[in-house]
Amino acid sequence: MTATSRVCVIPGDGAAPEAMEASLRVLHCLELPINWDFMPAGKDLLSQRVEEQEQLFKDRIDAADTVLFGASDGTSPGTKYMRWGKLTFANVRPIRWQPGFNSPLKEPEEIDYIIVRENLEDMYVGIMGDAKDLLNAGLSDGRSRLPKHAVDGKFAAKIITQPGTEQVAKFACELASQRSGRLTVSAKTNMLPATDRWFCEIAKEVSQDYPGVHFEEFIVDDMAHRLVVKPEELDVLLLPNLYGDILSDLGAGTIGGLGLAPSGCYGNDFAYFESAHGTAPDIADMGIINPTATLLSAAMMLRYLNLAEAANRLETAIAEVYLAGSDLTPDQGGDADTETFTDAVIGAL
Ligand code: ATP
Repeated sequence: MTATSRVCVIPGDGAAPEAMEASLRVLHCLELPINWDFMPAGKDLLSQRVEEQEQLFKDRIDAADTVLFGASDGTSPGTKYMRWGKLTFANVRPIRWQPGFNSPLKEPEEIDYIIVRENLEDMYVGIMGDAKDLLNAGLSDGRSRLPKHAVDGKFAAKIITQPGTEQVAKFACELASQRSGRLTVSAKTNMLPATDRWFCEIAKEVSQDYPGVHFEEFIVDDMAHRLVVKPEELDVLLLPNLYGDILSDLGAGTIGGLGLAPSGCYGNDFAYFESAHGTAPDIADMGIINPTATLLSAAMMLRYLNLAEAANRLETAIAEVYLAGSDLTPDQGGDADTETFTDAVIGAL
């Protein structure tokens, strides 16, 4: 990484640009060795041709060391390229409660784990179609449980591969080695032996190369229950793509909501950072979006850029604002707007 990094900022759609604008106000106060490259928000792109937009975003992403991303509802391009084009195979979603976070749980104090979600495969490969094509191809044998009327149905394929699972399992094992060493893996192993059982078996085999890592496995429905009743037992939780997507929102809910959950997507030579939440269209233009998830994602980005001291300062300032509790946004039970909360973080810096 060069001494001065280049960060491409993609504000995104819905309410996401408001969280991004607030976050950038905070980041500018840190006087970082970063050259910022600002892309337009989705609403300002509507007049351009889609192919032109995609090329523009691709070029600017390629020119950057990393990307700070709002959320996209499909209007802002870039997500597909950053995931499948840049092969960012590990989506890292820390779930950590902090004093002042508006958790619905009675005792959230010990919630501190990281979800590692496989980011490229599973049901996100985009292979969908008419069920009759599967039947005609002879893909349904005597073991399937297809109802008779399935011929009129649709299907979506779930693809799990050995190299894809190995690389994300290694990533999760390395992360677990740096933490307590506890690696939990979960999928629907009982119903889906071909994909989900296999995912867990490959992960278990990979974990055997890490003597300090203790492997454990739960069926994903049990896992959903555990995230609520025993979250303190988790440290690193590895999940296939779809379950990772769903359970990370559940995890965010346990600490106080989507406004608090950051995320980073890592590949071998590229990473980008975005909040775990979507575009929050229901609160767009209201000035009340909570920028904490975007700010904490920015802290993850600063660590990726070897700016750990700045990341620590940022996280400490956020923690102070939550501890004080007087300038929190409505999702956290407060009555501050985005600007007031952001001013408080800047004050704490
Ligand atoms: P998308 O289709 O882009 O995923 P969505 O509405 O389905 O959007 P989210 O954007 O994740 O999903 O929002 C789910 C709910 O959580 C919404 O009610 C939204 O307002 C709320 N929410 C999400 N992020 C935040 C935030 N940062 N601050 C406050 N509320 C938020």
